[in-house]
Amino acid sequence: MDNNPQQPTADKEVQIGKYKIKVIRSLCIGAASCVAVSPNIFKLDSENKAIILQGDDALENILMAAQSCPTKAIVIFDTETNTQVWPA
Ligand code: SF4
Repeated sequence: MDNNPQQPTADKEVQIGKYKIKVIRSLCIGAASCVAVSPNIFKLDSENKAIILQGDDALENILMAAQSCPTKAIVIFDTETNTQVWPA
């Protein structure tokens, strides 16, 4: 039921360490620079959109992956300081 292809996929938030990360699917163009920078966290799905894995990576590297996205499709929220760290 979760993967009903008829339903639009909602932007899913994933918590990794202190960060909440999400990919805005409507902005993602499948450029895959996030995957190149942080392959443990980002992966392209069958629609060529980035999805977030519960993988392991340094938070700085995840931030760098988000900053590498040409369309700013990756949003990072710091749950400790309650601030959005990217896009700044
Ligand atoms: S870098 Fe941005 S546009 Fe490219 S796959 Fe990742 S989220 Fe999508």
